[in-house]
Amino acid sequence: MLENPWKILLISTPVGPLGSGLGGGVELTLLNMAKALKKRGHCITVVAPQGSLLEEFPLVEIAGQFQPIAQNQTRDALIQLPENAVLANMWNYGRQHQADYDLIVNFAFDWLPFYLTPFFTTPIAHCVSMASLITAIDQVILAVMAQFPGTVAFCTHSQAATFALEGPYACIQGGLDLSRYQFCGEPGPALAWMGRIAPEKGLEDAVAAVDQLGIPLTIFGKLQDPDYWQDIRRRYPNAPLDYRGFLDTDNLQAGLRQCRALLMTHRWLEAFGNVAMEALACGVPVISYDRGGPAEIVRHGQTGWLVEPDQVAGLVGAIARLDQIDRQQCRAQAEQEYSLAAFGDRLAQWFQGIIAANTDPA
Ligand code: UDP
Repeated sequence: MLENPWKILLISTPVGPLGSGLGGGVELTLLNMAKALKKRGHCITVVAPQGSLLEEFPLVEIAGQFQPIAQNQTRDALIQLPENAVLANMWNYGRQHQADYDLIVNFAFDWLPFYLTPFFTTPIAHCVSMASLITAIDQVILAVMAQFPGTVAFCTHSQAATFALEGPYACIQGGLDLSRYQFCGEPGPALAWMGRIAPEKGLEDAVAAVDQLGIPLTIFGKLQDPDYWQDIRRRYPNAPLDYRGFLDTDNLQAGLRQCRALLMTHRWLEAFGNVAMEALACGVPVISYDRGGPAEIVRHGQTGWLVEPDQVAGLVGAIARLDQIDRQQCRAQAEQEYSLAAFGDRLAQWFQGIIAANTDPA
């Protein structure tokens, strides 16, 4: 054990139950954070919306209505809280039980947990999971960073750069339970695309690329916007698509590892991109738009290709160069940078500072 065991309360995203896919990458990040901390001997409890599925950890399920997702809102959107909001109810639980914990970790990309921070006596570590989207949320994040330095972490520098930050900030890349992802050295012919099927993820560009090449595309992920999906199907009626639905990690990696590469065609500034890490863990190279988090994950020419954003021709060119990528190098990168041990080291260093500052505010 590397440090005194801490008691940590993880408060999940309020946009859906864990296991539903509605929370996107946050769901996997929370699980892997819990695993990485448990491995180091810490005691973890998770608070999440009712209906959540989570093995291995004590789970407090909280009823209430989900929050609207931030990515569908405009920059000047007002802060919203539905009646009987699960966000408020989860943080009410946190407030009532805070004395039992050394630290609370916030996974909500929302205003309330930041606003509440000064009213808590237990320190709060905030994991910011998206790039800047809504001004009112930016402002409350900046206020917490000013009042409680070091308590807010971004996933990548390009994500952090979208918030007009003035001082230093924590940057904590994620990690995976690599034992759940198996290496595959001899894939089939298909390419992969995975994630929430929603406009900000730009699936249509991956479809346009395979439509041109006649290479099958296996798609994994939550159908978040059915109209958007139907529109893609209409525009590319003959594209060789194989939509497998939203799979759990075991089934996801079993399909993903058979693919020649993962295509990442996001239109927005992807904060991190768990799917890139997961592909590398299976030995699958990543062809990504050179934008946001994936550009800090993929080693261009070694574990994948970074191409000009929004250009299908760039994707097509990179697919032609896939045989220059050694799949063993992809798995090796995941082992070096994204193991639970590496993630645990990053978290321990971050949390140590927050807990120490709270114990000895001088
Ligand atoms: N995912 C999944 N099953 C699927 C497809 C995707 O569990 O069939 C998960 C994947 O493991 C990843 C998440 O969906 O953790 C997508 O996260 P990412 O960080 O790539 O994007 P986000 O949704 O947060 O924008």
